[in-house]
Amino acid sequence: MKDIEPGFREALIGYLRKHHSEICRHWFDDIEPSQIKDGVLRLVVREPVQLRYLQRLGGTYFTEAAQNVTGRLLVVRFVSPEDEARFEAKGTLPAASDAESAERPAWLDEQMLLSPDYTFGSFIVGPGNRLAHAAAQAVVAKPARAYNPFFIHSGVGLGKTHLLHAMCDALLKAQPSLKLCYLSCSAFMDLFHEAVKAGRMTDFRNRFRTADVLVIDDIHFLSKHEQTQEEFFHTFNALYQLGKQIILSSDAAPSDIPDLEERLTSRFSAGMVARIERPCYETRVSILKTKAELHGMQIPDDVPAYIAAKVDTNIRELEGALTRVRGYAMAMGLPITLEVARQAIDGEGPSRSGNAPSLQAIIDSVTRYYDVKLTDLLSKRRHKSIAMPRQVCMYLARKHTRFSLEEIGGYFGGRDHTTVMHAVRTIEGKANADTKMQAELGSIEQDLLERSGR
Ligand code: ADP
Ligand code: MG
Repeated sequence: MKDIEPGFREALIGYLRKHHSEICRHWFDDIEPSQIKDGVLRLVVREPVQLRYLQRLGGTYFTEAAQNVTGRLLVVRFVSPEDEARFEAKGTLPAASDAESAERPAWLDEQMLLSPDYTFGSFIVGPGNRLAHAAAQAVVAKPARAYNPFFIHSGVGLGKTHLLHAMCDALLKAQPSLKLCYLSCSAFMDLFHEAVKAGRMTDFRNRFRTADVLVIDDIHFLSKHEQTQEEFFHTFNALYQLGKQIILSSDAAPSDIPDLEERLTSRFSAGMVARIERPCYETRVSILKTKAELHGMQIPDDVPAYIAAKVDTNIRELEGALTRVRGYAMAMGLPITLEVARQAIDGEGPSRSGNAPSLQAIIDSVTRYYDVKLTDLLSKRRHKSIAMPRQVCMYLARKHTRFSLEEIGGYFGGRDHTTVMHAVRTIEGKANADTKMQAELGSIEQDLLERSGR
């Protein structure tokens, strides 16, 4: 520990909070700086899901912070306690961790998209989700022996994805070598079609039929896709017969998924089917408090109470409202109070101020430029005429505000952080390749900065 000065961690995290608050989480306080050796600063991270997240998204930020705090040219490596122990014994780190290896199989890639924000610890239990939560914990305690398959369904934004990620996290924690395969139904369908096209069905089958646990989010997307349903039916049977756990989520109960083969409907219903209902007022208040804490926001108790009373549709919208309040307070340079929350939610939103553009200002500029409606932008519609302006909004929000990927996704129609990441990359890519796009962005940004009074 010779190179690490007392107070180093605080300085490091302090730098990140000041310059990159959007990526900060309260659990950064658990990161243990170990040593600087040969220009490499090792940071030990105990929780596997947090480790993977940092390896994937944290490197540049932490390296920048470490260089600024120490004044030395160094790079950051996030390591597990096991890697650290190996380093102390042998003086070397593994050649490349999973996160850095280009050779890793695609299913591991997906697995690494598990959000460290979605754990059992941050999942608030209330009357609406108590059964689903209890069943999820039973499955994690005894994979394939409690409920198989385990099928969760609910309307949008009520916590299905959160619960699936929490289960994966807990399963991997209990058994790190578990071959856990987590993916969205659309990823499964894409892989299937690619495999058919490339004539690589054997690889495809090997990949899925050798999993210990198969988790597929949003399985209702199988609706109408007869060929994929057929393949999934065989995957399901193969795993089931081997005594492997299958976990599925959907926006409807098995029998309510339109155009799903009867043999799948009956298999999906054969284990435990748990439905998540909308949260009650008390649960909404607790969720808001937990989310605010996760992002290090200071809010008085009457603010969650106010937001929870106003928004009762789903949790994603609840988080969207919290984001709006935070954005309004930031733009106005005010602390978050009940009055500020009222203005942000009921009022017009911030207009002219000398600060960073607000999400509202971004929406104003983009809707005006592309002549699209606000409701379309915030809707689920995927038509290109709407999807592109929506991606531009996400890109601008990422560039000009300090909101996190999750917050931006929540604001623009309840999308997750990977969608926002994808949007930012898409628009960047287009702007690099195409001068027309550059010019479009230029004029939107000019309008935006004028509106924000800069
Ligand atoms: P779904 O997959 O059902 O559409 P998500 O799992 O994406 O919904 O949840 C939407 C948002 O609401 C996420 O940010 C999630 O963390 C949050 N959320 C949902 N349920 C809970 C809960 N019980 N406790 C805390 N946060 C929750
Ligand atoms: Mg989901």
